[in-house]
Amino acid sequence: MRNVLVFGERRDGDLKKPSLEAVSVGRRLADAGGGTLSVLVVGPGAAEAAAALGAHGADRVVACEAEHLALYAPEAYAAQIAEAARAEGAGIVLVAGTQMGRDVAPRAAARLGAGCLSDLVEIETAGDGTVRGRRPVYSGKAYARVASRGPVAVAILRPNVFPATVARPGAGADAVAVPPALAPERIRVRTTAVERGGEQEIDVAEASIIVSGGRGLKGPESFSLVRDLARALGGAVGASRAAVDAGWIPHSHQVGQTGKVVSPNLYVACGISGAIQHLAGMSSSKVIVAVNKDPEAPIFKAADYGVVGDLFEVLPRLTEEVRRLKSS
Ligand SMILES: Cc1cc2nc3c(=O)[nH]c(=O)nc-3n(C[C@H](O)[C@H](O)[C@H](O)COP(=O)(O)OP(=O)(O)OC[C@H]3O[C@@H](n4cnc5c(N)ncnc54)[C@H](O)[C@@H]3O)c2cc1C
Repeated sequence: MRNVLVFGERRDGDLKKPSLEAVSVGRRLADAGGGTLSVLVVGPGAAEAAAALGAHGADRVVACEAEHLALYAPEAYAAQIAEAARAEGAGIVLVAGTQMGRDVAPRAAARLGAGCLSDLVEIETAGDGTVRGRRPVYSGKAYARVASRGPVAVAILRPNVFPATVARPGAGADAVAVPPALAPERIRVRTTAVERGGEQEIDVAEASIIVSGGRGLKGPESFSLVRDLARALGGAVGASRAAVDAGWIPHSHQVGQTGKVVSPNLYVACGISGAIQHLAGMSSSKVIVAVNKDPEAPIFKAADYGVVGDLFEVLPRLTEEVRRLKSS
């Protein structure tokens, strides 16, 4: 029997989509191992935020409502995950590969003396209890098979790869209130405030739709064309390194080898040539659309749909059409 614990990360009080994806994976692994699925949620309002988790497949919700855990504190969150894993008898701990998840998971693994498998796009348990996974390497050109053999394994799941399903509509989950694992005076590093960076509301690493702009935009002001299309589609704004290096848009938007790795359902590349370092960050997108005036641009080799044309003409028409379809 192998119990599973999922760390449920929140934004503005609600569970983040990548965490719901992890809950769905957790349900599958718990069923395969004949164990239970618990979800840890921390911070004020944790129990309320976790109320819907039964429908997503959670058997138990572990809620730590401590006021001092409202914002991310690496040591405290890692300690909370390790404590919950021990208390729930978890053999597998799943964390979504968000910025916070990638930071906290190895810390929790160290506290548990567990192996940490990162950036997984596949995960399963073998008959001998080993947790096995697959992760992209060499900029997505190959996959590595990885395994963790100890009694506990921590796994970081790539966002947007696993579907978030409502496994048990209307079902509830047992709620357990737990105290903080670390007292406030023992926390050495904490987040004091979170400031939103401009108009960007959705992090590209978690977005299911991304519209990215490159050097073909010719200047920072033309990013409004990319933003308009992203807004119409309900997506995030991404960028190539050329656009970031030119100072047209902050680095937090950069997609690629030295930027963020993304796997959205839809990736629209506008005025981006498709250099190998850019493809390394987005080639696992489910549908790729390229807008480029050069029919020989390498991006077309990766694209499912291509528009050969001037983005200054194509993007406004595309945006208008999306708005029209959405309003009809
Ligand atoms: C170690 C290393 C790490 C790197 N990491 C990254 C990374 O993380 N992410 C990344 O993106 N790059 C990265 N790069 C840089 C990468 O090699 C490319 O230089 C970069 O991706 C090019 O960006 P771009 O496609 O916007 O620009 P360009 O290659 O200059 O392409 C611009 C494209 O716009 C098209 N275009 C021009 N005008 C129009 C128009 N009016 N309408 C339509 N299309 C038009 C052109 O045909 C062209 O294809 C890295 C490089 C190195 C060496």
